[in-house]
Amino acid sequence: MEILTNPQSHDIVFSIASLLLICVTFIIHISEENYYSKQRSVFGGIIAVAFMINLMGLLHNIYVFSEPVDKLIGYEVNRYVVIMEKIFTYIMPFVSTRYVMSIFQIDSQRPYKKVILIAPMLYSVLFYFSGTFMDFFFYFDQDGMIKYVYPQGATVNFSVYLYLIFCLYMLIRYTKTLSTEKATAIWIYFFLMMAGIPVRIITKSSSIFEFCISIALLLCVYTFQNPSEFVDRMSGAGTRNALTFAISTNLIQKKDFTLLGIHIDRMSVVLGENGMEVGSDLLVQISQYLQQLCQPGNLFFLEPGDYLMLFPNITPDEAIIEKTEDQIKKRFREPWIVRGESIKLFETPFALGFPEEIDSVERFGEVKGVLDKALMKQSRDIIRISDLNMKIVEHDKKIDNIVKHALEDGLLEVFYQPIYEPKTGKFSSCEALLRLKDPQLGFISPAIFMPIAERNGTILAIDRYVLASVCEMLATTEARMLGLEYVEVNLSVVDCIQANLSENILNTLRKYQVKPEEINFEITETYEQGITSVMNENIEKLSDLGITFSMDDFGTGYSNLARIATLPVKLFKLDKSIIQAAFDSELSYMVMLNLIRIIKSLKKEIVAEGVETGEQARQIIKLGCDHIQGFFYARPLPKDKFIEFLRDHNG
Ligand code: C2E
Ligand code: CA
Ligand code: CA
Repeated sequence: MEILTNPQSHDIVFSIASLLLICVTFIIHISEENYYSKQRSVFGGIIAVAFMINLMGLLHNIYVFSEPVDKLIGYEVNRYVVIMEKIFTYIMPFVSTRYVMSIFQIDSQRPYKKVILIAPMLYSVLFYFSGTFMDFFFYFDQDGMIKYVYPQGATVNFSVYLYLIFCLYMLIRYTKTLSTEKATAIWIYFFLMMAGIPVRIITKSSSIFEFCISIALLLCVYTFQNPSEFVDRMSGAGTRNALTFAISTNLIQKKDFTLLGIHIDRMSVVLGENGMEVGSDLLVQISQYLQQLCQPGNLFFLEPGDYLMLFPNITPDEAIIEKTEDQIKKRFREPWIVRGESIKLFETPFALGFPEEIDSVERFGEVKGVLDKALMKQSRDIIRISDLNMKIVEHDKKIDNIVKHALEDGLLEVFYQPIYEPKTGKFSSCEALLRLKDPQLGFISPAIFMPIAERNGTILAIDRYVLASVCEMLATTEARMLGLEYVEVNLSVVDCIQANLSENILNTLRKYQVKPEEINFEITETYEQGITSVMNENIEKLSDLGITFSMDDFGTGYSNLARIATLPVKLFKLDKSIIQAAFDSELSYMVMLNLIRIIKSLKKEIVAEGVETGEQARQIIKLGCDHIQGFFYARPLPKDKFIEFLRDHNG
């Protein structure tokens, strides 16, 4: 007990305290997830070194300050204890430097760099090692205290200065890539380590220095070694922060690297509708699969479904990227089995080259925006920067804003494009098409703003508005009397996966007393990719009520014809690209002909879309299409003009 109360022995108390701190740090360290394997093992090394410094320091202090126990340690043993303590103390600046390097992901691949890095530390180690057989650098006095021989005794500190300077250089150069919290932490770590030196000289006590180290390590374990900000706990992939950090450190070091990414089509829908457990299991499965394709710590995802893999230290090597991409493609051809359910996913790969294509984090953000757009086209080829049009970025942001307020601001109006029925010679149906007119930007095409509305979620309200306008038109105009049998209304995939879709629709129909047969919903072919059961349920429910469906844009996707045949769809709309190409080349004409044959063999009605000339109309009528839509007959018209049109042509 006397050891603890004796003011002279405060060194022992400090030693015990800092040993305890190190143990705490160690426990926290091993309980954290293993993500940044390199940084993690270096930090493990620091803890080990700090532990040894403290242990040796404690033994030495016991020898010096505790009369009864010093017999146990003895003069000779103390000598070795002190030498060991010194050796570990001088290894510390080296491992700290390695740690700072690993935080900034700086690798010393070249052997000569490794030698330069390790040499100062080796010098200090040999310096103390020499003490075991000569007294050239230092000796021990009769109290067992170390005495340096000057000037050569001072050279041992050179290594410390060199490492300090190098760390200082790295900190100044790279801290801007860190969050402020981390930047502060690493500077504090640095100063605590630095502060130890003058404290040691003034107090002649090494325990305070050791205590500083322990505090610094505890600080680190809570900032750098705590990966919650950097690692997604569910999937083990890196977070958006981790990716941004990786990109910026690599860019600053002027590394050449490629980001290979895969975008998974409608992943958020799959995750959302299959429930939490299935969703997280699926994410874990995909992450595990992808993780084995890249080095540990190189898998990130931005949003669920948008995976990115980073290939550092690789000069964008086409062969590697293509090989990896092939592997991924092969895997995605198979379904993922999660809790007995088989889920098929569709991916689109993309590759971004740094730094020649993207040279800053800001630029990466912009590219991401455009990329999303390109990815929605569901190309199955690898997408490159050169495929993207960066000017869209600014424009997109503006439109996003406009779309969000379009309903309130009354910028939306539903137009109607008459559809001709050759059998009766009348315009018996029409398609409702939305128009957005912004006071500044003027008319904005739905082809541009609808995808944005799908992403920012306003699509639901917008499509409800369209349906209500259509019902109102039917209820308040003489359209029915003029021979209009039904209206085709576009339904986005986002609508189709709403659980309460059919109730909402029914309520609207009831409100305006519109019969279900008067509405036909157009859905797009992507829906047969059949990942969602809610969607199928919705379509069945609405079909049972008497609402019919059309397959829109037929011929543009990657259809599984066998599946399409089983869909409860009454009409097939041949896409305008098919029609227009058919009149340009023989081959395309054959494509159209065969598509028409397929639809007919399925006993479905055909709508030909985008018919622009009389010649096209004649041919298509001859081929037996049931409905024809296109500028040749009429453009989409505002409500009043549309009624006028019906009056003129159906009356
Ligand atoms: P869509 O469903 O394929 O609509 C047909 C598009 O073809 C319309 O473009 C129409 O104006 C255009 N079109 C009609 N006849 C011709 C022709 O002879 N030649 C050419 N070149 N084009 C013709 P629009 O109105 O720009 O709409 C673009 C897309 O926006 C639509 O493609 C549809 O996917 C979406 N959309 C429009 N309104 C709505 C809506 O109310 N709800 C939803 N969810 N989507 C909508
Ligand atoms: Ca349509
Ligand atoms: Ca269409």
